[in-house]
Amino acid sequence: MRKIDEVLAGNRSAAILGHIHPDGDCVGSCLGLYHYIKKAAPQMEADVYLEPFRKEFFLLPGAGDVHHDFQTEKIYDLCIVCDASDRGRLGAGAAILDRARVTVCVDHHKTNPGFTQITVLCPETGSTSEILFELMEESLIGRETAVCLYTGMAHDTGVFKYQSTTSRTMEIAGKLMDKGVPFTEIIDQTFYQKSFSQTRIMGKVLLDSQLCADGQCIYSSVSLAEMEALGATPMDLEGIVEQMRLVDGVEVSLFLYETAPGIFKASMRSKSRADVSRAAARFGGGGHARAAGCSLTGDREGVLAAMLSCVKEELAAHD
Ligand code: 5GP
Ligand code: MN
Repeated sequence: MRKIDEVLAGNRSAAILGHIHPDGDCVGSCLGLYHYIKKAAPQMEADVYLEPFRKEFFLLPGAGDVHHDFQTEKIYDLCIVCDASDRGRLGAGAAILDRARVTVCVDHHKTNPGFTQITVLCPETGSTSEILFELMEESLIGRETAVCLYTGMAHDTGVFKYQSTTSRTMEIAGKLMDKGVPFTEIIDQTFYQKSFSQTRIMGKVLLDSQLCADGQCIYSSVSLAEMEALGATPMDLEGIVEQMRLVDGVEVSLFLYETAPGIFKASMRSKSRADVSRAAARFGGGGHARAAGCSLTGDREGVLAAMLSCVKEELAAHD
């Protein structure tokens, strides 16, 4: 598939799905595609299904149209999955995918095995939103699509600074800016802005952090009870693992947080050498070389010890 219009032609309805715990690229790519379909194929009925996301993303056009309830009897002609690396990452959306006649996935996770009829996988590209831009007819990209895709690109490139950022990324961001994206507001309000409880929970996690592997690894963890004491939820932890990675001399940051009693999410980042997606894959997770995650069950100390031993092995492999 060279252009998304090829799969829009001849179909009357489309479901758009992202991954569980939607992040900026997930929400941005799904909503960007939604607005594009409204313009490029106005006769088509398009619905976006996503788990509830952070309220900062409510400022994106169309955020209020997103369905958070996946209980639908509808059978769609077309189902387009954005930014989800495997079927398990769809959560309840998998049932919608299974019933659709034509299935497509647009993604940039190198761990994606290909689970739809058509897969557009570009592991070198910084965001799914950037891939979508390339699949769209530029003249049919309106302001709404531009705002959403720009947000997705900004989030998955750490505001255009990760190694995945290319001159083409900046060129596309420029083209989107020209369509009227309020970029200062988008970047400040969706990326940097923190609530008071987000700020306090970040402070606690950073204060509790430890170094290991001769200072190459920094790690920290937080329980549900500790979050509750500061009025925070797992949705308030965005940006913490990136902050930890900034520490001088650190190659890998590992952050564990409890999402339900006895279930921990591990979030990892690396600076330049270690491939953290390999450590995540050992526990059934995935992601990218520089950003990956997985879920584990057990007590906090046990889960932490298991993750740290994999991280240390990965660090040793690059010594
Ligand atoms: P985060 O640490 O921000 O939750 O996720 C970082 C990256 O790893 C994202 O690209 C995300 O898609 C991926 N990732 C996080 N958790 C999982 C997981 O449990 N399974 C898979 N396959 N990928 C994950
Ligand atoms: Mn992404």
